[in-house]
Amino acid sequence: MSELLNPRHAVCVGSFDPITLGHVDIIRRGAQVFDRLTVGIGINPDKQPLFSREERLALMGEVLAPLENVQVMGFDGLAVNFVQEQGAAVLLRGVRSLMDIEGELTMSLTNRALAPEIETVFLMANENYSHISSTLIKQIARFAQDDAAARLESFVPPEVVGPLLKKYRTANP
Ligand code: ADP
Repeated sequence: MSELLNPRHAVCVGSFDPITLGHVDIIRRGAQVFDRLTVGIGINPDKQPLFSREERLALMGEVLAPLENVQVMGFDGLAVNFVQEQGAAVLLRGVRSLMDIEGELTMSLTNRALAPEIETVFLMANENYSHISSTLIKQIARFAQDDAAARLESFVPPEVVGPLLKKYRTANP
């Protein structure tokens, strides 16, 4: 690891569109392992986001406020460049399944080729949350009826339920 980069500082990147209980769990556990954790909200050019980056920043800032050593930021471009800019030596990712591992392995090898001084660290998803994905949550919010709020509470932090339902109500008044 480079001496200029802090091995006790990790960066967790993702789309977080929106943040789920699975994300919160990985971030909370990462914040216990490392002294400092920066969460980076990236732009995935292949996905049309439901929440703008400003909305995601505000929501995540609210949800993660109790975690004192966690900060949330947006970034453009490659994740490894963002990790380096932050002075961190670790890229933190969560894995839910064998399918995730396959994709993450390719990504971590590419990232190592781009920036060998950055180490990718994986945390296994908590079994209570490993089935949760932002995609699944958007489907529940779109199709659930009167019970939508109650159902969403098992998947996303309480702060996210209202804004998520509002997105679909506005789209289908
Ligand atoms: P990306 O589009 O980069 O995969 P995501 O927002 O989907 O971004 O995920 C960000 C990070 O959180 C990734 O490392 C992903 O594997 C992890 N993650 C996503 N959902 C869960 C979950 N339910 N449990 C644990 N980790 C998760």
